[in-house]
Amino acid sequence: MAKKIAKKTTGTAKTIRARATAAVKAVAVKAKPVPAKPPVARKGYNKTDLAHFRKIILEKRKEILEELETLKASMMDVTTGEYATENSTYSLHMEQGTDTMEREKTFLFASREGKFLNYLDDALKRLEKGEYGFCLDCGTLIDRERLDAVPHAQLCINCKLKRGK
Ligand SMILES: [Zn+2]
Repeated sequence: MAKKIAKKTTGTAKTIRARATAAVKAVAVKAKPVPAKPPVARKGYNKTDLAHFRKIILEKRKEILEELETLKASMMDVTTGEYATENSTYSLHMEQGTDTMEREKTFLFASREGKFLNYLDDALKRLEKGEYGFCLDCGTLIDRERLDAVPHAQLCINCKLKRGK
């Protein structure tokens, strides 16, 4: 008899716990639709300005692509004979490694240009989405002068300096 009561009590406790959990869940669900940071309509650069920045970005992009093409050509052009003098120097004085170093430099430069290209592509994406010109960290509009100089800038100058530390 006593065992039965104990069982019943446990059952009741379980039910209470379940109800409490359900209540907590209900509150959590209720609280969910309120976003932590409601999207605020931000006033960015106007269409004319954005077209201007887009033009700068596209021009820089073209420049880089051309430079990369030239670099690629110079890196691959080992067997054509155009760099025959360099190649013979390379085979004769391989231990000096000058050509290798030259190649390494070219490669580093190319990868840096590649990164720059990614930044420019990202800026174009942000232009498409209407997010261009806003600092990714604090959300303020980046200065026109800064964007003119660095059209792919993702941060305002203050946040850039903060991150640099
Ligand atoms: Zn900022």
